[in-house]
Amino acid sequence: MKQKNNYYTKKHKKKKQGKTLTITLLISGIVMTGLLVWLGLNDWNVGKSMKKAQEVIGMSVPEEDDNTAEPDEKAEPVKEQGGTSEQKPAEQTPSNPAGDDNAESGTAEKPEPSIDNGGYVEGQQLPEEPKYINEILIANKKYPLPKTYAPGEDKEARAAFEKMAAEAKLSQFNLTAFSTYRSFDYQTTLYERYVARDGKEAADTYSARPGYSEHQTGLAFDIGEVNFEQHFASASFGETEAGKWVAMNAHRFGFIMRYPAGKEHVTGYMHESWHFRYVGTEIATEIYNRKITLEEYLGI
Ligand SMILES: [Zn+2]
Repeated sequence: MKQKNNYYTKKHKKKKQGKTLTITLLISGIVMTGLLVWLGLNDWNVGKSMKKAQEVIGMSVPEEDDNTAEPDEKAEPVKEQGGTSEQKPAEQTPSNPAGDDNAESGTAEKPEPSIDNGGYVEGQQLPEEPKYINEILIANKKYPLPKTYAPGEDKEARAAFEKMAAEAKLSQFNLTAFSTYRSFDYQTTLYERYVARDGKEAADTYSARPGYSEHQTGLAFDIGEVNFEQHFASASFGETEAGKWVAMNAHRFGFIMRYPAGKEHVTGYMHESWHFRYVGTEIATEIYNRKITLEEYLGI
C-alpha cells in the first residue's frame, strides 16, 4: 500500500511540475508584454515609467523637502538621478538657543544681555511676577521666579505622579519622588552648600541658583526607586530598568524629562535622568514625540 501510494504521488508531482512551468512561462510573457507596453506609453523612458508606476500604485514620491518636519524625525531625502533642477537643499530650522531672541519682540533697541559663566544673565534681578508663556509656568536660567513665589507642591502634579507610580508597580518598580517643591530659602541653603563644597562654577552646572530652580514651581519631581538611594539624583538612574520605564512612560502621565541628554545648550543644564516636570499629558506627549525640550516647545 505504501509503495503504491508513493508511486502515485511521484507521478502526480511530475504532472503538477509540468503544469506549473507552463503557467509560470505564461505569466512571465504577460508581465513582459505589460512592461513593454508601459514603457512605450511613457516614451521609452525607464525613469519616467518607474515614477508613473509608483504613482499608480499609490506610493508617495518625494519631490521636495517640506521644511515643517522636525530634523530628528526626517529621513534622508531620496536623491533621484537627473531629478528636477528645482530641488531645494534641506533647509533645517536651527533650534533656537536660549538667549537668542526675546519672546517679547518689539524691544529691538535693547542691548544683548551678557551671560555669565553659569549661564545666567549678568546682573539680572528676580522678577515681581512668575513668567507664564502659553499658560505654562516657566522657570529657567533666563526666566527666574520671584523670591516670594511659594505655591507648595502642585496637587495635580502629585496626583499624576501617584497614578504613574501605581502603574509602575505593575512592572515591579516602586517609584518615589524624593524631591519636589523647594522653597526659595531651601534652594538658597542647597546652592550655598554646593558652592562651598565644589565651587561656584561646578555648582552652577548641577544646582540652580535661588529663584532659578524649577523645584520652586511645585511642578518638578525628582524621581527614584525605593531602596535604591544610590541612584537618587544620579546619572545611573537612567541606566536602571526603573529609570528607563519612567523615561518612556512619564509623558502619559503629564511629565517630561526636563533636561535631556544632548540638549544642554538649550536647557542650560546637564542631563538629569531623574528630574521630571509636570506640564499635563497633552503637552508632555507632544514634547516626548517631537524629542524636544520645554524651551523649544515654547520657542524661547
Ligand atoms: Zn530636580
